[in-house]
Amino acid sequence: MFCVYDLHSHSTASDGTLSPRALVQRAAEAGVEVLALTDHDTTAGIAEASQAADEFGLALIPGVEVSVTWNRQTVHLVGLNIDPLDPRLSEGLKRLRDFREWRAEEIGRKLEKAGISGAYEGALALAEGSLVSRTHFARFLVQSGIVEDERKVFKRFLVSGKPGHVPGEWATLEEAVGWIHGAGGEAVIAHPARYKMTRSKLRQLLKAFVGLQGDALEVVSGSHSRDDYINMARHAKDFDLMASAGSDFHCPENPWIALGRLPRLPEGCKPVWQNWNLSAQTELRSQLG
Ligand code: AMP
Ligand code: MN
Ligand code: MN
Ligand code: MN
Repeated sequence: MFCVYDLHSHSTASDGTLSPRALVQRAAEAGVEVLALTDHDTTAGIAEASQAADEFGLALIPGVEVSVTWNRQTVHLVGLNIDPLDPRLSEGLKRLRDFREWRAEEIGRKLEKAGISGAYEGALALAEGSLVSRTHFARFLVQSGIVEDERKVFKRFLVSGKPGHVPGEWATLEEAVGWIHGAGGEAVIAHPARYKMTRSKLRQLLKAFVGLQGDALEVVSGSHSRDDYINMARHAKDFDLMASAGSDFHCPENPWIALGRLPRLPEGCKPVWQNWNLSAQTELRSQLG
């Protein structure tokens, strides 16, 4: 039976603009039947999202997007079907959030030197007590009228070689896969085409990931082109990885793909959900009418 999956999304628990409840409501209204909440380095939104999933009648997959440093580059791993309360995962994510706090102060200092004052306080205020990300800095600079849009903030200030850049010191690939597996989940390499790796570098990453028993590759992503779907489907097949699909939704104004509008996985992909048993949620839904 065909089902609408969206296995990558963000809420106000990280750098999304919708609360977990509002995100689930919007996804349900857009026709999503199975949604994964995958906030950066936190599982804080999952309890609220699960409750909302019962209310709005969709299946909520507890997830997370773990920041990883591999080969001096930042890579994101999505964990699906994790136990959000697993102690080792929670401890690992806490370490990454502590780094985020230190990094935010450092970004603030660097921007100050570049003539932009109050960015640290501004970003922190926009994070509203949740973890602070570069997205919050980008929003602050846009809202202060310093830069026109978020993309331009990244390009001019926040990426490598720019005045507000601070290199990530995230989890190792091995740690991240270990935390996700330890919490009972499946590990997925998020938006592989976004890393702008050469083909051989990407295959090196996939080889390392397979060596750690990694599970899947996000073949269909909101930030992928049609060519990317085809290329990534081929890589998944070559490395015997399952394939995932997620919009990477952050906010309604997102210029990328909307919730519930993802194309199907290319022919020949093994869906990451092939062995999932969603009947518990389906039963619950039918009980709720
Ligand atoms: P962080 O994890 O704090 O380093 O922030 C990374 C987040 O910034 C990503 O998850 C995206 O949501 C956002 N981001 C990264 N690059 C860009 C970009 N070029 N334009 C807009 N948002 C971006
Ligand atoms: Mn993000
Ligand atoms: Mn990501
Ligand atoms: Mn994401």
